[in-house]
Amino acid sequence: MKKVAVVTGGSRGIGAAISIALRDAGYVVGANYGGNNQAAEAFTAQTGIATYKFDVGDYEACTKAMGRIEAELGPISVLINNAGITKDGFFHKMSAEQWRSVINVDLDSLFNCTRPVINGMRERGFGRIVNISSINGQKGQIGQVNYSAAKAGVIGFTKALAQEGAAKGVTVNCVAPGYIATEMVSAMHSDALAKVKASIPCGRLGESEEIARAVIFLVEDQGFINGSTLTINGAQFIAG
Ligand code: NDP
Repeated sequence: MKKVAVVTGGSRGIGAAISIALRDAGYVVGANYGGNNQAAEAFTAQTGIATYKFDVGDYEACTKAMGRIEAELGPISVLINNAGITKDGFFHKMSAEQWRSVINVDLDSLFNCTRPVINGMRERGFGRIVNISSINGQKGQIGQVNYSAAKAGVIGFTKALAQEGAAKGVTVNCVAPGYIATEMVSAMHSDALAKVKASIPCGRLGESEEIARAVIFLVEDQGFINGSTLTINGAQFIAG
């Protein structure tokens, strides 16, 4: 029987590439999204992958949605916590809303989406969780105190939950992408983007498919890779 995988933010950008790679690797995939119905409908039409609209920042909504996905597709064996947003600004000008919304969508979401599925994984003796952090959670970034804090939190979450799940066959790993050519990065100011590109030793942005390949590698591992953070950034920042 095919295993079921859920990808949060799985209808666009890096998440879409992960959803497609999982489908191609033989998983039944449910791709979550937040509000862009048009993109989600186009994604389903192109790929045949079912999309599920819910806010990963809302625990009740996540619990309900994970229950619905399990009823429709089957028990969830693989969870990719990928959904994320940015709301950049210098900290001395940052509003509480900018802080809270980024922490909510980028970090609280890991609790909200993982908590409803972790017991099933433990009971079945198998689970693969991959969390998407960021280079800026590893090194910090001017204008992204909120995002850097959330993405560093994703790494801590990964390390702690990996230890809890290991004896039950549940691995929890993390991928920390550098700058990848998605809408999130295209939204950057052109001067800032030019500076970023100049600081990447391999001389280009990454592609979503390069992140998806790493996710598949972690999902398909036999279980000894656990609690790790895989850094993928064209040598822009070498994490220790
Ligand atoms: P995109 O902006 O291209 O796509 C974001 C996805 O997340 C969309 O599917 C979006 O849904 C969904 N989403 C956003 N907010 C919510 C929410 N509240 N509830 C449910 N779904 C939501 O992002 P990227 O592909 O660029 O980024 C994916 C992940 O990778 C993020 O966690 C990001 O922080 C991380 N990352 C990205 C990098 C990059 O260079 N792009 C670098 C390092 C890390 P909808 O379509 O409905 O808006």
